[in-house]
Order: sequence, then C-alpha cells, then structure tokens
Amino acid sequence: MIPENISRQAARCLGCKNAPCSKNCPLGIDIPSFIGLMKEDKLSEAFNEVFSASIFGEVCSAVCPLDKHCRSSCVRGLKGDPVEIPMLENYLFERYFNPSCAQPVPETSGTVAVVGSGVAGISCAVALAQQGVKVTVFEMQDNLGGITANEIPSFRLERKAFSKVIEYAKNLGVSFINNSFLSGEDVRNLTTQFDAVFLACGLQKDVEVAVSNLDGVVSATQYLRGNRPKSVKTVVVGGGNVAMDCARTALRNGAEVIVAYRRTEEDMPAFREERLSALREGVRFMCLLSPFSVNGEGRVQSATFAEMQVTGVENNRSRIEQTNNLVTIDCDCVIMALGSRADSEFFRNAGISLINGRVEVDDNLMTSIDGLFAGGDIIAGENTVAKAVSDGRNAATSIIKYINK
Ligand code: SF4
Repeated sequence: MIPENISRQAARCLGCKNAPCSKNCPLGIDIPSFIGLMKEDKLSEAFNEVFSASIFGEVCSAVCPLDKHCRSSCVRGLKGDPVEIPMLENYLFERYFNPSCAQPVPETSGTVAVVGSGVAGISCAVALAQQGVKVTVFEMQDNLGGITANEIPSFRLERKAFSKVIEYAKNLGVSFINNSFLSGEDVRNLTTQFDAVFLACGLQKDVEVAVSNLDGVVSATQYLRGNRPKSVKTVVVGGGNVAMDCARTALRNGAEVIVAYRRTEEDMPAFREERLSALREGVRFMCLLSPFSVNGEGRVQSATFAEMQVTGVENNRSRIEQTNNLVTIDCDCVIMALGSRADSEFFRNAGISLINGRVEVDDNLMTSIDGLFAGGDIIAGENTVAKAVSDGRNAATSIIKYINK
C-alpha cells in the first residue's frame, strides 16, 4: 500500500507535455512518465523508468539542490508548492533498489580503467559494465565513493545509499582497486594498458590561504572525513556547500559555530537550501570578512579577518575591497573550507594542460590525449551529483563508440 503522503504528491503531478522538470534534470529522467506509473500503482515499473536513467536515484534525491534541477522547474511551483519529485524518487529507490539483482554481462567489448570511485567514475563504470566492457576502477583512498560517499555528512546522505550503488557495481562485475595512488604518469600509462581510460579523480587539492600549524586548524576535507578537534567555538572559513556541511557537523559536535565569508550572504556559492538549513539550526554568518591570520600558541585561540566593503557589482556578485579594519573572533577551532582545485603537477605529468584550472574535453568528453576521457568536477568545477552522473553516463557512451571504432 503506497503511503498517503507519497500518493498525495504523485496525484498533484499534472503530467505536463514537454515537462520542464524533465528538461531541467541533467539525466533527462521522464518524470511525468514515472509519476504517472506511480499514480496507477505500478511502482516497480515506475522504479525501472528512473533506474534506467540513473542508478543514483536515492543519492540524487537526498543531495541534489531543491532550488536547482527538477523540483525548482515544476509548474506547480508557480502558484504554490512544487511536486516533491525527490521524495517520490527516494521512495521508489528505498523500496525497489536491490543491488543483488545486478547480473554480470558477458565481457565482449574491451577494457577500460576508471580513475576515481566517486559519482562520475561509478556512473561510467556501471554504464560500461552493462554493455559488456571489463572495467577496473582505481581509487586512491581506502574507502570507495569519493567526496559524495565520504564527505557529505550522514545527516544529509545516509551511507547505505551509496553503499548500495557500489554493491550493485561489484555484482555487475566491476573491479575496484582501493588504496591505489596513481601519479599523472601512471594515468598516462594506463592508456596503453587499457582500451580507454576515464579520469574522474575530482579536484584533488584544498584551496589554502594562511597555512597554520596550530592545533585546532583543519581543512574541510580532514574535518568531514573525521578529524574533528573538540571545540567550544568553531569558525568555518568559506561560503560554499562544503562550508555549510562543516558548520552543521560542528554544531552537532556541540560547538557554537560561525561561518565567516568574504562577500555578502547573497553571494555565497552554497545552495540556498543548504544556507537556510545552517541558519535554521543555529549557525551564525559573519559576512564581508576575509581571512587574515589564525592566532594562538600551540593551539588556536582566535582568527583575525580583514573587513571588506562592497564597492559595486561585478559578474553578478558584489565587487569588494579591503578596508583598514581587522576583526578578531575568539575560537578554538578553525575549519578552512575555501573550495578545491585541480592538482596541476598531477595533470602536467599526465600530459594534460589545464585551462582556468579545469581539464578541457571535446564534445565526446575526450581530453587532448587519445583514449583518455574525463568528467565530473575536473571538467566543470564543483557541481551537482546529477551532473556528475550525467558526465559518467555520457563518457561511457563515447568510450564504447571509441572502442568499437
Ligand atoms: Fe508533474 Fe511538475 Fe513535472 Fe508538470 S512540471 S510533469 S506537474 S512534476
């Protein structure tokens, strides 16, 4: 029996022609079709409709931004609340996604190495394995799943949602090699050992400003992966989604939390929903503060910021300049959440030049090196999970064409 809140949401869908929700889904999921099947109580068919477009339905429904993609384009939202599409998708995946249903497809067409086991990498690996390609995924960390599985806090994404995807990939015959650190040269060599390579290693380096050896100063990556100093008062430096994840995690660790950001709150790159959640939970934002120094002896005791002022608008966000004022905030933990960047040495050794810090690819997602494809954050910067799934799937299509040629 379908729960009342689910059937009520499904009933609200108007089944629009040229549905804007589907057009705004990077995976092109036929949303009116799957919701239409739910209305007819054909739940397993509805699940298959979504599953044929993405194995990441449960992950996307949990972390895709509500103010972007499908839900934000629903025509119901023009005069009231949009249809809760993620809620419907999540219901289907929780109920019907069974990793043990994966059947290995006989290997018929070539070998591919995938570098990185995040969303883009696994999306590509699964799409290739489903076509009979022998896929080996190389992961430098002990844990599979990249940033999405290991750095998004469990209050936003339950660990089991990603584990099920990995289990499905393994059951399909995809091989994973963990703790496999590859240099740029190693990646280049893979192109001679495999028919093609898909590079989905993400942005590997944290952006750093004032480096401090004081106890209590950690990068966002370290913090989200479990290195969490005990703290009464934590300052998170940055204004993106990762900063919000750190701030909300620090709150749950019992600290009073301030997010310090160099522009205005409206300029924060974090999704609106993430910002509002942080504020609702009690995180305080202090804007127009640019990091200046972290102070203390042995352990951090305060962080000093240069006060900024808005002098106009530039590229749709505030143009700012530094004033002569400094602001010091007492704290015992500072989390640097200033974003990530590509490891330029790695790419230089791989023979790939970066343009504006990103790997350039052609329409088929192939880099300047024959047989080496790339996708995910290294080509587009930090983006949504749905976009990474789409990159992985599109790369798999291009790779199969490349191998067959
Ligand atoms: Fe249904 Fe909204 Fe999509 Fe229209 S836009 S098909 S109402 S979910």
